Amino acid sequence: MSSRRNLVRVAVPVPLADAFDYLVAAGDALPPVGSRVRVPFGRGERIGLVVEHPATTDVAPERLKTIGAVLDATPTLGAELMASLRWAAEYYHHPVGAVLSHALPGLLREGRAIDEPPEPSWQLTALGRTIDVADLPRTARQQARALLALRERALAASELEARDVAATALARLAAKGWIERAAPPLPQPAIEPARGQPSREPELTPDQRGVLEDFARTRSAAKGFRAYLLHGVTGSGKTEIYLRLIAAELAAGRQTLLLVPEIGLTPQLVRRLRERFGEELAVLHSAVTERQRFDAWRRAYRGDARLVVGTRSAVFAPLPAAGLIIVDEEHDASYKQQTGFRYSARDLAVVRAQRLDVPIVLGSATPSLETFNNALQGRYRKLTLPRRIGSAGTPRVRIVDLNLHASRQALSTPLVAAIGQHLVAGCQVLLFLNRRGFAPALFCPSCKSTEQCRRCDARMTVHARAGVVRCHHCGAERALDWACGTCGAERIAVGAGTQRVGEELGMLCPAARIARLDRDSTSRKGALDAVLTDVETGNVDILIGTQMLTKGHDFPRVTLVGVLNADQGLFGTDPRSHERLAQTILQVAGRAGRADLPGEVVIQTHHKDHPLLTCLVDGDYTAFATLALTERRDAAWPPFAHLALWQAEASRRDSAFAFLEQVRLAAEAERSKVAVLGPAPLAMERKGGKYRAQLLFRSAERAPLHRLVDRTLLAVRGLRVARRARWSVDIDPLEI
Ligand code: ADP
Ligand code: ZN
Repeated sequence: MSSRRNLVRVAVPVPLADAFDYLVAAGDALPPVGSRVRVPFGRGERIGLVVEHPATTDVAPERLKTIGAVLDATPTLGAELMASLRWAAEYYHHPVGAVLSHALPGLLREGRAIDEPPEPSWQLTALGRTIDVADLPRTARQQARALLALRERALAASELEARDVAATALARLAAKGWIERAAPPLPQPAIEPARGQPSREPELTPDQRGVLEDFARTRSAAKGFRAYLLHGVTGSGKTEIYLRLIAAELAAGRQTLLLVPEIGLTPQLVRRLRERFGEELAVLHSAVTERQRFDAWRRAYRGDARLVVGTRSAVFAPLPAAGLIIVDEEHDASYKQQTGFRYSARDLAVVRAQRLDVPIVLGSATPSLETFNNALQGRYRKLTLPRRIGSAGTPRVRIVDLNLHASRQALSTPLVAAIGQHLVAGCQVLLFLNRRGFAPALFCPSCKSTEQCRRCDARMTVHARAGVVRCHHCGAERALDWACGTCGAERIAVGAGTQRVGEELGMLCPAARIARLDRDSTSRKGALDAVLTDVETGNVDILIGTQMLTKGHDFPRVTLVGVLNADQGLFGTDPRSHERLAQTILQVAGRAGRADLPGEVVIQTHHKDHPLLTCLVDGDYTAFATLALTERRDAAWPPFAHLALWQAEASRRDSAFAFLEQVRLAAEAERSKVAVLGPAPLAMERKGGKYRAQLLFRSAERAPLHRLVDRTLLAVRGLRVARRARWSVDIDPLEI
C-alpha cells in the first residue's frame, strides 16, 4: 500500500463491482469528484467518473496507470446526485460504474462537452406562415409535416427528424424561403423567479384547497424533507394540485421534478404543462432523441429548466435548485426497471428528496401497499381528495355473473345491452381486456391438442388478421394454419383477445366507430397519439384496450366501462396479484363518468362473491388496502418483509438450478436470520428456449438482508456455475 496525494478513484462502466485507482500526472490538479475522465482500461480507453480522492491505494506502484484527458472542469454529477447514485449502487447491488453511467445521457457518456452549443433550430419565415399545406403536392408530405409542426414552435432538426422529416426536405423548404434558422436561445440567467402568471387556472374545490393548505402548513419552512401521499380518487383533481405546487416552486425560483409512468407522458399532459409553464419545461423520456435528451438534461443541470418531467430514468435528472419532487401514479409498475440495473424510480425519488432536503408528493388513486402502509404508520403525511370534480359523482359498479349469463367473445348479454344504451345516449364506451390478439389459443377438438410455442411453456396466440400465431413471451411467429399439425382436423380459436372482441362488436353495433388500444394497434409511430386524440375528440364510440387503458387518460365522454374478465388476477400465485388487480380495476373504472356525465362500470366475473370484488364494487380502495395489508402481514410479505430475488436462466435446466443451489449453500453458510426459499422453477419455466428458476431471500429487517446478499455475491461470483447461467439479483422485486 502506498500513500500519495495524486490518486483518483474512477468508476468505469464495466461489469465489475469496484472502481479503479489511477494516478494524476505530476503537477496536474486533481479532477473533482463527479467529473468525467478518460482512463486507460484493458487494451483500450474508457470514460469514467471520479468517485473519490483516496489517500492510499492497494494497487502496486508499477501497475498504477495515469488518467488521460479530464472532460469536465466542474462536476457533471453534483454532490447530491453522486451520493444518491452511490447509495443506489450499494442498495441494488449493482456495479457503481454502470449505475453512474446509467444516470448520464448517452452523449455525455460518449464524452461530449457539457457546454457544447445547443443544436440550432428551424422556424417559419413570414412567407412560410402564409403557405396552406393543402396546396402542396402530394409528394411533399415531409415538407407539409414540417410546416405544420413549425406552426407551433421552432424545432431542432433532430426533433423534426423524430417527426419523420429528413434533412433534404428541410433544405427544400429553406431554399423556397419558407423556413429559416432560428436564433439560438439566449443563455438564461442561473435561477431567478419566473415571470408572468400561469394561465387558465380553474377555481379550486374546497377539497383541493384543503390539501394545499395542509401541505403549506406541514412542509418545513422553505425546504426540508417530508414525504406526502396524495390519495385522491380518479378524477379528483390531483393533477391540478401538482400544477399549483409546481407554480409555487417556480415563483420561488426552485425546480420541480415530476415523474410520470411510461404511458402517462402523453402529448396531452405535455401540452397541459406547456400551456401553464411555457418553456420552463424540460422533457426526459425514452422516446426523445439522444440530442434532445442531452439538451433537456443540460437545461436541468444549469437550472434553466425549472420543471423537469419524465418517465423512470428522469429520476436521475440533475436538480441544482431543487424545491419539490412529485411522483404521479406512484403505484405504477413502470417505475421499476426490470432488467440490468433493477432500481425503483419511486423509491430513489424518495431517497433523492431526502438528500436534497425537499418535500416529495407521491400521488395515486390506488397507492401501492408499501406507500399506503407508510402513510398508516405516519412516516408519510396523507393528503386526501375523496370526491370527484364535477357533478358526475362516483360511478355505479355492477357485477355480471358469468355463471348465469351467456356471453359471446367475452361479451355478456347484460353488458351488450348496456353498451347499446350508452351509445344511443351519444356517449362513449371503454372495454378492458388484458389480452391482445384475436384469441389466446388454437385448439384441435379432434385430438385435443393446443398450438404451443416451441421455445416457451406457453400457448401461441392467434392473430387472425395478420394470419399468424405468435408467442407473446418470446415473439416467435408462424403462419396460421387452421388444419391441425398432428391429426389434420380443422382447429378452432378459443377465447377472445381485443381483436376478436372488436370484430364481434363490429357485428353487434355496425354503426359504432370502434378502436383498439394495445401494443399491436399502437406499434406504429404516432398511432397511440392518433387513437387517444380520436377518443378525445369524439371520433371513436367504443375503445377496447389492454392495460394501456388504465393510465391517467381523461376522456370526458366515456360513461360506460366494461371489465371483460376480472378473473385473470384473482388467483395469481404472485403475492402482489390482488393488489395489481384492484389497481387495474379501479383505474379503468375511473375512466367512467368524468366531467358532468354519470358513469357506470360493469365487471364480468365467474367469482362474484370474491372478497376482493366486493370491496371494489364499493369503489373503496382503502377498505381493500386495509384487508390486503392484513393478509400481507400474516404471510410475512412486503411491506412487512424485505426481499431479494435471485433468478437464473440457462439452456439447460440443471445449469440454472446448479447456480441457485450454490447461492443457497453460500447463504446458509452465513448462518444469518434471513430465510432462504427455493430454488424453484418459475411459473412459466421455459421462456425463449431458456429454463428459468429462482430463489428468494426474505428478512424482517433490511440490514441483514443486504449483508447476506453482499456476502453471497462475493462467494458465488467467481464460481464456474456462475458462468453457466445468466443470473441477477433483484432487490424489492415487483414480480415473484
Ligand atoms: P386526477 O389527476 O385526480 O385524475 P385531474 O386533475 O386530471 O384529476 O382533474 C380531473 C378533471 O377535472 C380535469 O378535466 C381537470 O381539468 C378538472 N379539474 C381539476 N380541478 C378542477 C377545478 N378545481 N375546477 C374545475 N375543474 C377541475
Ligand atoms: Zn415463445
